[in-house]
Order: sequence, then structure tokens, then C-alpha cells
Amino acid sequence: GRVARADSVAVIGLGRFGQALALELMDSGTEVLGIDFREEIVQELNGQLTHVVQADSTKEAALRQLAVPEFDRVVVAIGHDVEASILTTSILLGFNIEHLWVKAVSEQHGRILEQLGVKHVVFPEGDMGRRVAHLVRGSMQDYLEIGDDFSLIKMAPPPSTIGKNLTEAGVRTKFGVTVVAVRSVGGRWTYATAETVIAEGDTLLVAGSTAKAEAFSQLR
Ligand code: ADP
Repeated sequence: GRVARADSVAVIGLGRFGQALALELMDSGTEVLGIDFREEIVQELNGQLTHVVQADSTKEAALRQLAVPEFDRVVVAIGHDVEASILTTSILLGFNIEHLWVKAVSEQHGRILEQLGVKHVVFPEGDMGRRVAHLVRGSMQDYLEIGDDFSLIKMAPPPSTIGKNLTEAGVRTKFGVTVVAVRSVGGRWTYATAETVIAEGDTLLVAGSTAKAEAFSQLR
């Protein structure tokens, strides 16, 4: 059947990033048109995506033939060939794709994409590097920067908060963060309230400004 539908996504460039993205979309029930000019990649992914096509995305006619202008969500996952990324992006901007996501491999690449008018520029390597830095530095078990200096972190409770409820521990008043949910050993995640008592072995989900959340995770 036709792929171009509101809930399908075209992924251009099926390197490591593009492949992981395309396969994850498929897993979550989204139809994916994958495009790459390397034949071996197209063969490898054949049958794993809704459609995989070998084409040069810097050629407008090729993209038109694949009905790419009809997609409202397109991801350009070409990284290292910056020229190909920019040429492809420029064609897609001409198609007025509603939601265009483009991967950047460097600050300069990202800046050019933003200057072209791309609203969603992603920096997978830079983002992952920063994310891992937070994991390495703190006692965080997981970390998600939501944006605008706001983060969600999964962490063990600071020792000084154990045995206290969230009000007594001064989580908001002293540390300026919010405990969103708590999970006890072998238990399930439950929403936290002011009366929630922190116990040894609990896992906390904390929301707050990145610096405050990180400081809270390092509290002894
Ligand atoms: P990663 O680091 O995620 O592996 P790469 O930049 O190395 O990213 O891979 C990008 C993919 O995009 C490669 O598989 C490459 O063949 C593909 N690609 C590059 N230029 C074009 C193009 N003009 N048309 C289609 N696919 C392209």
C-alpha cells in the first residue's frame, strides 16, 4: 500500500542513527519509508521497514518520485556528509514538510541548518556526551534533559533524606527540586506526595533545574 500517510515517517540516511530511529519507529507501530543510497544498507533493512528504497536524496526528482513531499514528518539522518545533509534539507524545506527533523554532527552544521529554517535540529552525539557526563559525575541512574535547563533524573535517595518524608527532608524548600515518583525495592513506581517517606533502597524520580537536580543527586 501507499506509505505516505499522516502517521508515517520518512527517514533519509540509514546509518547507525537513522537505523536505530527507523527501527524504533517501526517497533512503536509507525510506518517508515527508509531512504539510503548504499545498496547494502537497503538490502539489510529490506523487510524490517515498511519500505526501504535506494535513492540519492540530494536529487529532488528522486524524492518526488518517492512521494516524500506528501509526508508531514521527515527525518534527515545524514551526518558525516554535511553537503548531502544540507542539499537534502534544502529540498525538503522547499516541499514545506510540516515536521522536519535534521541531525547535525557539529555546531557549525547545526547553525547552518537553523539558518536555513529547520525547527528541529538534533545533535545526537553532543546530547549523548552531555548526558553521559551527568551520569558519570553524579549518583544519577538515568537522566533526561527536557530542555530550557529542566531535567528529570532517576537516582538513589541521598542518605540524609532516608527515614524522612518529603516535607521533612526539605526537598522543595531546601533543594528546590520536586520528587515526582518513588519506587521501593521490588515495588512499582507510585506518585510521591508530601507525606511519602523515603526508605533505604528506594529509587526516586526527581524533576528540577539541571543544576539543582544534579546537586540533589550528589547530596550525602
Ligand atoms: P551515522 O553516524 O548515524 O552512521 P552517517 O552520516 O555515517 O551517520 O550515515 C548516514 C547515512 O546516510 C549513510 O548510510 C549514507 O549512505 C547515507 N547517505 C549519505 N548521503 C546520502 C544521500 N545523498 N542520499 C541518500 N543517503 C545518503
